[in-house]
Amino acid sequence: MSRQSKANTAKPGSDRPSEDHPATLMAGAGGVVALGDGLDARVLVLNRLYVAVRVITVRRAFAMLCRDMAEIISIEDGQYVNYDFATWTEVSEFRREYEPEQHDWVRTVRTEIAVPRIIRLFGYDRLPAQRVKLNRRNLFARDRSQCQYCGSHFTTNELTLDHVTPRTQGGGDTWENLVCACVPCNARKGGRTPEQARMKLIRKPVRPRRNPLITLRLGNEKYRSWKAFLDEAYWSVELR
Ligand SMILES: [Zn+2]
Repeated sequence: MSRQSKANTAKPGSDRPSEDHPATLMAGAGGVVALGDGLDARVLVLNRLYVAVRVITVRRAFAMLCRDMAEIISIEDGQYVNYDFATWTEVSEFRREYEPEQHDWVRTVRTEIAVPRIIRLFGYDRLPAQRVKLNRRNLFARDRSQCQYCGSHFTTNELTLDHVTPRTQGGGDTWENLVCACVPCNARKGGRTPEQARMKLIRKPVRPRRNPLITLRLGNEKYRSWKAFLDEAYWSVELR
């Protein structure tokens, strides 16, 4: 069932951020234009050993595919099917005609290509980072853009990060001490602990087991095929 793909010489670490640069992408892909949600979609990246390592933008995925650094993995009737980029492009023509609703699409100068949901890197053996990075984006995703004091939902630019135990009282920058808070709740709390301010957290902040952005996407039918790779034991292991 799986197709033979061209051997690849890309070395680990060769997918530099510069590949996100539109100029690089345009040169490599012959110009890619999103159709509908096409370029908002995300692509799960597997290493050579089929272990999920990260989630990337469609632009970046196409840049890697154009350079023959990766192949496409498609789950069809419960089976993994491997496609090289050229074959995927051909198959896309058929899909565009018969199942346009089942895919996101990008357009190149020559044709329209279905956005792959999963790609596999040929030259990358490393495992994903064990720890989820502590940053604003991941904190907002963990807290689902919800103020952890009043429980209301906000857009990300209306939310602030609150140190549960303030820094002035020894609280650190940790998953367990940072939560999303709306501006009024943050102001009301001031430089106090929740107890001192008589405020309650709606849930206890913890370090997420896997990237919360991935968890959010798993709720979307589009990304159902990711589950096969994310339910692996590796992802269930409690992270320290
Ligand atoms: Zn609030």
